[in-house]
Amino acid sequence: MVASSRSEQLFNRAKRILPGGVDSPVRYFEPYPFFAASARGSKLVTADHRTLTDYCMGYGAMFLGHSYGPVLDAVKAQMENGTLYCVPTELEIKLAELIAKAVPCADMVRLVNTGSEATMNAIRLARAFTKKKKIIKFDGGYHGAHDYVLVKAGSGAAGLPASEGVLEEASAQTIVTQYNDAAELERTIEKNRDDVACLIMEPVLANIGLVVPDKNYLSDVRKITQQNDVVLIFDEVVTGFRLAMGGASEFFGIRPDIATFAKALGNGFPVGAITGRREIMQQLAPIGRVYQASTFAGNPVSVSAAIAVLSVLFEAKDSIYPQVARSCDCIVEGLKEELEDIGEVNCTINSIGSMYQLFFSPEKVRDEQSAKRSDSSTFRRLFEELLKRNVFIPPSQFETCFVSYAHDEDDADKTVDAYSEAFKKIKGQK
Ligand code: PLP
Repeated sequence: MVASSRSEQLFNRAKRILPGGVDSPVRYFEPYPFFAASARGSKLVTADHRTLTDYCMGYGAMFLGHSYGPVLDAVKAQMENGTLYCVPTELEIKLAELIAKAVPCADMVRLVNTGSEATMNAIRLARAFTKKKKIIKFDGGYHGAHDYVLVKAGSGAAGLPASEGVLEEASAQTIVTQYNDAAELERTIEKNRDDVACLIMEPVLANIGLVVPDKNYLSDVRKITQQNDVVLIFDEVVTGFRLAMGGASEFFGIRPDIATFAKALGNGFPVGAITGRREIMQQLAPIGRVYQASTFAGNPVSVSAAIAVLSVLFEAKDSIYPQVARSCDCIVEGLKEELEDIGEVNCTINSIGSMYQLFFSPEKVRDEQSAKRSDSSTFRRLFEELLKRNVFIPPSQFETCFVSYAHDEDDADKTVDAYSEAFKKIKGQK
């Protein structure tokens, strides 16, 4: 990467006080990450005064683009009237009504702050509702950094801790199986039928690179879970309000029992939501016996941001979603042409809506195992070469590139050129 003295100085200072110099491990890359100074639209400006075209976009949070005017205006106006009340507001009702209007399964809504909070409590709700203990997740699916989901596949039904500090007793309650394999899911559920409370899944895997569902897979999943009284939780923290106004459930026409949201809902402000069937949601305290609480939940600043986001999306969804998908398609088609021109056959690109990822792999990537077989060290070189050319994609092969409403044709053209030069450089070095 391009050595940048200001970022290097800041990183050396950060390391002394922030473990690893960062507040979230994905932000670190060798030799040190660049530091951000500001961001607007599709551009992120570094502490070294470089302007990068951003495809990390807050790991998917900035669907409308950085510093999006109507969201900032709503937040500024709200801040004049207070930033935290900890008593209910009409704003919360308004936001919940907008979410319910957009999301097919959202009979009721509980607002939270982050994706992790949403998924953690969705699992608790499912356990309380079914009076069963175990949960199923997919290999490569990410649902936040909390104990029951920070789990990797073990032998047999019991998962293993994916982090030190996660108890084996906790991870043993999580069964890890393969995405895009309905028969395997059916076998797993049948074997553990009396114990499984829920299946929690990203409808589209976006945390192992990007992996899209095979045709009919999600409807098979819906059928299997329904037949076995397993609560289906769609973790739409990435796909929510991004794939469509009603997220993946609208996009694919599948109605889960619970759906969780964050990221694009606040376009850069911390706000999330648990939504679902009325009889499940009504278990939440204070009317029910499932305890979930947060000081900052429903805070008027984040809620105002989310109301502005959903208002913009409702107003212009018929133009926004096709436009963002077109921008993404332009990049993906451009990359495919460049790869063909240089005779590179060992690459696969997965894309859907406004998301894409390139794998250095000759095979189709359709689950965690095939994703992990791709050449992540060549991907790392791609990341570095792109960064030299002012294009910022997430540093890891096992993340997703996000296109926003702010990305335009010029961004797409320059991005394809940057990839093209990067491909040639990498191929020349092989
Ligand atoms: N679920 C999914 C699908 C995610 O991608 C993430 C974060 O990347 C989370 C949950 C956790 O969200 P947060 O980081 O807001 O806690």
